[in-house]
Amino acid sequence: MGSKGREIVGMNVERVIELLNKAFADEWLAYYQYWLGAKVVAGPMKDAVIAELMQHAADELRHADMVSNRIIQLGGVPLTTPKKWFEMTNCGYDEPVDPFVRTIIEQNIKGEQCAISVYHALIQEVGLKDPVTYNMAIQILQDEVEHEEDLQALQDDLEMMLNHKR
Ligand code: FE
Ligand code: FE
Ligand code: MG
Repeated sequence: MGSKGREIVGMNVERVIELLNKAFADEWLAYYQYWLGAKVVAGPMKDAVIAELMQHAADELRHADMVSNRIIQLGGVPLTTPKKWFEMTNCGYDEPVDPFVRTIIEQNIKGEQCAISVYHALIQEVGLKDPVTYNMAIQILQDEVEHEEDLQALQDDLEMMLNHKR
């Protein structure tokens, strides 16, 4: 990266790169979990759920792109093999083995809640010591908060439908 751009980072650059690579692993796993979830999901409101899952998958892939660009700017190397995703991840991977809409939505809500905690912690640790990473993490956090809300709204609609008695 540009030398001045690196010089202004007022904390251990290797630590920032480590935090970013952990988030990078999370984003790829989240992307795949959404992508596969959209393929296999079944049950009521399936079409609305698939549309949301596909939109979120695209967002997670975009996040992986943003995070990897920042790693490279800082002179780091984004994880070079998917094997490392499981060693570095904060949030893990919840296999969509049960295709029922309720289960898929619950799994992805858990994932979003983890992502919100991860970016919140990253923002706290980095703060204005690295304003570029800070700004990127805030942008991603805003998306993760929106993702959680979208899924919980779908969950509410689904429960309303399943519980409705006339
Ligand atoms: Fe994300
Ligand atoms: Fe998300
Ligand atoms: Mg959405």
